[in-house]
Amino acid sequence: MKIGWIGTGIMGASMAGHLHAAGHELFLYNRTKEKAAPLLARGARWCETPAEVAGNGEFVFTMVGFPRDVEEVYFGEEGILTADGPCRIVIDMTTSSPGLAGKIADASTAKGISSLDAPVSGGDIGAREAALAIMAGGDRKAFDEASPLFQTMGKTISYMGEAGSGQHTKMCNQILIAGTMIGVCESLLYANKSGLDEDTVIDIIGKGAASSWCINNLGRRIAQGNYDPGFFVEHFIKDMGIALREAESLDLTLPGLALVHQLYIAVKAQGHGRSGTQALMLALKNLNGENRRQ
Ligand code: NAP
Repeated sequence: MKIGWIGTGIMGASMAGHLHAAGHELFLYNRTKEKAAPLLARGARWCETPAEVAGNGEFVFTMVGFPRDVEEVYFGEEGILTADGPCRIVIDMTTSSPGLAGKIADASTAKGISSLDAPVSGGDIGAREAALAIMAGGDRKAFDEASPLFQTMGKTISYMGEAGSGQHTKMCNQILIAGTMIGVCESLLYANKSGLDEDTVIDIIGKGAASSWCINNLGRRIAQGNYDPGFFVEHFIKDMGIALREAESLDLTLPGLALVHQLYIAVKAQGHGRSGTQALMLALKNLNGENRRQ
């Protein structure tokens, strides 16, 4: 099948790679062409614009960074929705706002094509290992048609309801991750201060009731002093901002989420916007005076 793919960053490159490995013909676009180079070397075809991608692929997937990037690739001058061609189904896998998913659904319907919002969870490792959880909203028939393609990238795939439901589900995921990340960092900070070996602590508490993907993957990176990005701090701040705005519109107060959002703004202000989300540990260390001059 001919498939268009836009966004070949940390997540998108691995996910598109699984579609290519499954035998599909890939038409690619990314803002920075070099990041598509490994897929182009394996036989994927380069397109100069999102419109050119949509002029070639029957399905068009997008996995870009922020809602403003999603706006640009769908509604820009050379955006997907300006194209005429074989594109039948568009699928945005970016973590973006439920409202924007609805706007894409309306504009797609007006053009006679179907759309899905299908954000993912599972991190850089889940993307590499084709083990993502994929939560989709939008047209049910399009979801059924896209399911075999989702199965090349993920292990758990769920249809959640009308357009925007995938993004709402992803917000539930991010609210849970926010609470988990502060727990992971405070737990390991305490381990370190009390003279325990962080890895040995993770070996045991990562198997009990406090077990989570975050302690077992990001906790390990913290123990190694590795703050490289699997998931960028600036993307997590974006997600928490979307969740807080959505919650406010529902008259819902989420004080835990608001606190973690504020802490991550501090992490970014300390120069770690492009570090991995485990860099929350660095802000907590600062709060505890660990980097203070003696
Ligand atoms: P990333 O590495 O920054 O990838 C995003 C890619 O989209 C980049 O290659 C970027 O181009 C490209 N892009 C941005 N705007 C574009 C535009 N207007 N036109 C064409 N290409 C554009 O980020 P990521 O970690 O893969 O994350 C992608 C999305 O998935 C984000 O919404 C993130 O919140 C979400 N997510 C991430 C993870 C994770 O663990 N990393 C997990 C689940 C969900 P450049 O190469 O020029 O920057």
